[in-house]
Amino acid sequence: MNVIIFGPPGAGKGTQANNIVNKFNLYQVSTGDLLRNEIKNQTDIGKDIENTISKGGFATDEIVNKLIKNLIYDPDKKNKLIFDGYPRSLTQAKNLEFLLNCTNQKIDFVFFLNVDKETIIKRIEKRKILEKRSDDNLNTILKRYDTYMETTRPVLDFYSKNPNFYEIDGGDQIHEISSKIEQKLSV
Ligand code: AMP
Repeated sequence: MNVIIFGPPGAGKGTQANNIVNKFNLYQVSTGDLLRNEIKNQTDIGKDIENTISKGGFATDEIVNKLIKNLIYDPDKKNKLIFDGYPRSLTQAKNLEFLLNCTNQKIDFVFFLNVDKETIIKRIEKRKILEKRSDDNLNTILKRYDTYMETTRPVLDFYSKNPNFYEIDGGDQIHEISSKIEQKLSV
């Protein structure tokens, strides 16, 4: 099965994706991690996006689409993909459909972790201390939240018509969210 986890920054997408990966033997596709990796390795893409990402902006659809293409075409990962942080725009959502179609795959579950702005701010502040992520200062958090609302919300509307779309309260405890997701995936 292939799964998408949605939610504003700080909603716990990464944590939940990680849990599902371990329990259901899936492969996590985190575009945030892929992009941070490019920056760390100072590749051409990395140099190009470093500034934008540190200010809370998005990488271009072209760059992100390029980074995920190989993963979708990888036969070892076929029907074992969990997307965390992708797609974040309608263009990306359409590109994902296209790439999945080309490889005879589809999305089986879409989870939306819904969480209010106050909770997100508290969580990201905590993560900032624990993980020392450079993009995690308060202004960037707010910018990332606003960018999410503007750009990703239409993607949600796009997927919410899907019968496999589930909205989950991202303000719950981590283990409660995990068990709700696992329940759906186990049916
Ligand atoms: P994340 O780890 O998912 O919170 O992503 C961290 C940052 O990477 C985001 O704030 C964006 O700047 C960038 N990013 C991650 N995924 C995408 C994407 N699908 N499209 C564009 N930018 C992205």
